This record gives sequence, C-alpha cells and structure tokens, in this order.
Amino acid sequence: MTLDIKYDVIIVGAGMGGLSTAAFLSKEGKKVLVIEKHDKPGGFITSFQRKGCRFDIGLEGLMELSENGDITGFLNYFGVSVETVKRTEKLRIFTGDKDYTFNSPTLKSDFIKQFPLEEEAIDKFFDLNEKILSEMYSGGAPKPPYEMRLFEKLKFGIESMLKRPTLMKYGMKNAYPILKKTFKDRDLINVIISKGICNMVYLGYVYRWDVVNRDIVYYPISGMQAIPDAVVKNINDNYGQILLNTEVKEILIENGVAKGVECTNGSCYYGDIVVSNSSVHYTVNKLAKDAQELEPLRKSIEKREIYPGAMINFMGVSREYDFGGVNYIAIMDKDTIDLDFDDYTPYNCPIWLIVSEKPKDQLDHSVTILAYLPYKYHNNWDTGIDGTRGEEYRKLKSEVETIITNRICKKMGEDFRKSILFCVSSTPVSSERYTYSTEGAFMGWMMNEGNYGKFIPQETKVNNLYLVGQWVFPGGGVAGVMASAYYLSKKILALDNIDLEKKYKESI
Ligand SMILES: Cc1cc2nc3c(=O)[nH]c(=O)nc-3n(C[C@H](O)[C@H](O)[C@H](O)COP(=O)(O)OP(=O)(O)OC[C@H]3O[C@@H](n4cnc5c(N)ncnc54)[C@H](O)[C@@H]3O)c2cc1C
Repeated sequence: MTLDIKYDVIIVGAGMGGLSTAAFLSKEGKKVLVIEKHDKPGGFITSFQRKGCRFDIGLEGLMELSENGDITGFLNYFGVSVETVKRTEKLRIFTGDKDYTFNSPTLKSDFIKQFPLEEEAIDKFFDLNEKILSEMYSGGAPKPPYEMRLFEKLKFGIESMLKRPTLMKYGMKNAYPILKKTFKDRDLINVIISKGICNMVYLGYVYRWDVVNRDIVYYPISGMQAIPDAVVKNINDNYGQILLNTEVKEILIENGVAKGVECTNGSCYYGDIVVSNSSVHYTVNKLAKDAQELEPLRKSIEKREIYPGAMINFMGVSREYDFGGVNYIAIMDKDTIDLDFDDYTPYNCPIWLIVSEKPKDQLDHSVTILAYLPYKYHNNWDTGIDGTRGEEYRKLKSEVETIITNRICKKMGEDFRKSILFCVSSTPVSSERYTYSTEGAFMGWMMNEGNYGKFIPQETKVNNLYLVGQWVFPGGGVAGVMASAYYLSKKILALDNIDLEKKYKESI
C-alpha cells in the first residue's frame, strides 16, 4: 500500500534520539512522521508495570535532569517539562567478602573511613577528578569533529593539550592502570570500578563518581517514561505524527537518494529526508542493505567494539523489606578487576541492583538488576543459528537468573530472599529484540581507550539519509542522544537558513 502524504522528514524509531529530532524539526514547522515498532515511545527509557510495581529499563536517575542540566534545557526548549525528585544515592558495595557503604553527601569521608590507609591517595583521587572535570567543562559544547576543517582540528588538538592537559593525560586512558598506580588496596579499586564496567576510560569513572559526590541525581516522579511522553506531547502540539506498533522493513533509496520507508505491514511513507534512530548496524546491514554508498561505513563498524549489554532482571520485593535507605547495590567478585568483559560468567560478573523511586501509591519495591554478561555468552545465550529463542534459550535464561539471584541473596541475606515477590528476566538478546540495538548495547560504542572519542557523523553517503542516537556524535546516554538530535536538526534546518544554534542559545 502506498500512502500519498509526503513528509518533510521520516524518522525510524522513537528512542530519545528520534523523538528529539522530531521535536526540534516540528517546532520549525517541518512535517514530521516518527515510526516506532514498539507500542510505546522511548526505546531504552520506557517504563512498564508488573504486578503493581513500576519498572524503568535501567536508569536510576539523571544528573542532566537538574535545574540547569542538558535534558532540562532541551525539554524547556520544546516547551515541556517533567516533574522530578532528587535521588540522593546511598550505595552498598560488596567486593569479595567485604561490605562497604557510601552516602552521597559524605562520599569522601566515607571512602577515608573505610580505607584509612589510603587517605592520601583518596585525597589525590578526588583532586585529580575535580581537575579533569573543570578542564572538561571549560570551553563550552564541542563542535562535532567531522564538521571541523583540518586547521580547526589541529587548533583543537593543540588547545586540548595546552588547556586540558590532565583530561588528556588521564581522562582518555583506560582506568584500571591509573587506579592501580593510585591505590594499593585492590578492594578500593574494585569499589571504584563497580560504578562502571571494566576497561572504561578513566573519565567514565570520574563522571559517575562526581554525580554521586555532588548529589545531583534527579528522577522523574512519573518514571523515566515521562521524558519521552513529554517530548511526544510537544511533537503532537506541533502537528508531528507518531505511528506506534509499526516496523520499518526497508529504507527506500533511489539513485543514491533516500526517498522514504517501507513497513512490514506493507505501508510506504515518502519524505524528503529519512532519519534512522535504529542502530547504525541495523540501518546499514538491514534497512539499507543494498546501498553500495554505505559500504565504507559498513566496513568501518564491522569490528568496532560496542558497549556491552546485560542481563536485566526486574524484581518485585516485598514492602516489608527494609533497604535501610540504600538505593544502589553493587556486587563485585574479588577478582572482577582482573577480568575482561568476555571472561564474565554468571558466577563472577558484576551485578548492580537499583532500588527505584516508587510512585506514591506503590507499596512494594521495584528493583532493577543488571548483571553484566555478554551477548555472546554461551553461544549467544543458546539461541539457534538464526537467532531463534527456543527451549534451550529459556532454560539457560532461567538458570542464569537463579545463579544471579543466589549471588544476591548470599550477600543480602535470607530475609531478602524471603521478600522476593517475583522476578522477570531479560537478556542482551531480549534488549536487541526490543530495540534492534546491536547486541542489546545501551550506550552505543565501547568507552575504552581505542573507541572513546571516535565519532560517527549523522550524515551518510546516501543523500538525505541521516543517523541519530547513541551510535553517532556525541554518543550514548539520554542527554547524549538528545544532543545528537540537536546537531542533526541544526544541519537539516540550516538547509532552510534556520539557525538552530542561535535560537537555542537565545532561549536559554
Ligand atoms: C540499563 C541501562 C542503564 C543506562 N544508564 C544510563 C545512564 O546512567 N545515563 C544515561 O544518560 N543513559 C543511560 N542509559 C542509556 C540510554 O538510555 C540510551 O543511550 C538512550 O536512551 C538511547 O537512545 P537512542 O535514541 O539512541 O536509541 P534507543 O533507545 O535504542 O531507541 C531506538 C528506537 O528505535 C526503534 N526502532 C529500531 N528499529 C526500528 C525499525 N526498523 N522500525 C521501527 N522502529 C525501530 C526501537 O524500537 C527503539 O524504540 C542506560 C540504558 C540502560 C538500558
């Protein structure tokens, strides 16, 4: 079936990257259509209900939702807002047989109290992190590197060395060697690493601990879903359209120019511009698989490391159970720091428990559990050659869930076990199935030394086909993908001589 309506822009996927692009463009009068295969918008930040408990896919909160945060800034620009509550972090971190507790407001003294022999090194750690962050935040938002001319790139490189020496020396390097040089106590290193995944660049940990240290995590009162829902409201107010439960099968390309999309239900939609918020791999290898122009991009991403997915389990815990105010728990094997991601098994992988903020009328606790296990674990979780999830997959999933739950209960105690009401588990294969994000990755590319800072542009070699979201500049995370939409929209609107940067700056 071919529909006659022609759109200015068709967007494949209603993740925060796709929705934000639609919001920026529809605000300027563009006729926009967003097509989403799921029954709700938001991609990785959707929320859902199970047995009276509300769950978010994984985020515990966002610092960018603070009053002056980037997400708040984008939402303000769209003329919408979400009501938030501050989430002061209280962390309990198990490493080997040790059990540590940290409170946001007293973070540094909690570190010193529990690792008194490392006091001097802890001081240095906090000082170093502060220096890296002040260098990073100086100089305003970066220009996308692919928009820089050679001279600008050189200038940027020299300026970075001169003005951001600490960031360059430490921030962009893998964290583990730096932490090993800083601290003698392996448990302390394990505690620091527990706020991320192994092998991340040092900056990743600086950022995550800074968020705790400054006590600036905010959570939408109505759950994470409130963020995409607010953006959808703005798109609708500006006459943009969102089609849910509709999957794009193919991006239609004629003579190297994107013309529209064909959906699995047979409908075709035509537009001057097509934007894909689907993963870059899915876009070039499935949706636009015949486009020869995309071959260099296909090759360049083929072997690139991606951010690992995880088994994500959603656990209802009885209202009777008292977490003692703890809202983040990490369980680290004593040797986790020596393992590569590919060596993780259910018996040694890091486990995080996020105790979510509850809606006023919810009695029991919602706990989201992340167990970092690779997509490739056990032959892609015992899926068949064609990726089918049969009996073996279900059996393995259930076995791994039990191992993870047992590891948690061993640390948290039998009271906790008795308080478990239900557990719904998902694997990286499920995350991929729901979002088409490659291997279920939820932050785009791996954030290690070889990958961090290498950006893919929004523009592709197929005319009028663009990418948006966690795989393109400036990368993953909710604020990151909203920024990727901003940069893309700036480019698209510039074709009509609309200066989005000016408008955005004037609105702040
Ligand atoms: C456990 C977890 C923890 C996280 N922690 C943080 C954090 O602390 N801070 C932070 O900022 N971020 C965090 N994130 C990451 C953040 O949520 C993601 O980076 C971001 O939401 C990705 O947005 P996106 O727009 O790139 O893509 P996605 O959210 O993947 O959206 C893509 C959308 O496109 C749709 N789609 C794909 N293909 C098609 C098709 N062919 N037809 C129709 N629709 C299609 C999908 O269904 C999906 O809705 C976390 C995520 C998870 C899951």
